[in-house]
Amino acid sequence: MRVGVLAVQGAFIEHIRVLKRLGVDVFEIRQLKDLDQGIDGLVLPGGESTTQSRLLLDLGLFLPLKKRIQDGLPVLATCAGTILLSEKIDDDPTRHFQTLPVTVKRNYYGRQTGSFKKKISFENQTLDLIFIRAPLITATHPEVKVLIRLNEGVVAVEYHHQIALNFHPELSHQTYFHERFLKLIQAR
Ligand code: GLN
Repeated sequence: MRVGVLAVQGAFIEHIRVLKRLGVDVFEIRQLKDLDQGIDGLVLPGGESTTQSRLLLDLGLFLPLKKRIQDGLPVLATCAGTILLSEKIDDDPTRHFQTLPVTVKRNYYGRQTGSFKKKISFENQTLDLIFIRAPLITATHPEVKVLIRLNEGVVAVEYHHQIALNFHPELSHQTYFHERFLKLIQAR
């Protein structure tokens, strides 16, 4: 199994570390030719979605990646990655893949002060959710499976082969969501 991690900007190194720890063959996607090798899954890391989107367009990666996601390539997206997948971004012209039928609001918790940790119970375990200038999912298509909902709104969803999280599982010591993503790949 080979997983490509988008490595143009943001917190990609942390995802690579987690996946390697789980025994996965990981490679960085920095330019178009990186997509020539076999790819079974894609990670879209956190960072700055406007910058990522601009770089994807400049590097000619935007349309090829969008097409692969539309064709069913399993994706794990975190934070800025979730913004890139979303169908609609409130009040924001950022170019995005629009493969995930949800609406997001960027920087929902504020730009500077909005980083925090939250402990939640999920499927019989305690998870530490780490939010950094996180978006909020404000609307979801009925077919989107909501995984985690907080008081203010939705922060984790799954839609067929796409998992999108508003927090950073790669910064916690828990590997639940990476393992869930690997199971999605194996199920294909
Ligand atoms: N605020 C960033 C954005 O709008 C996302 C932050 C993150 O990925 N941690 O793109």
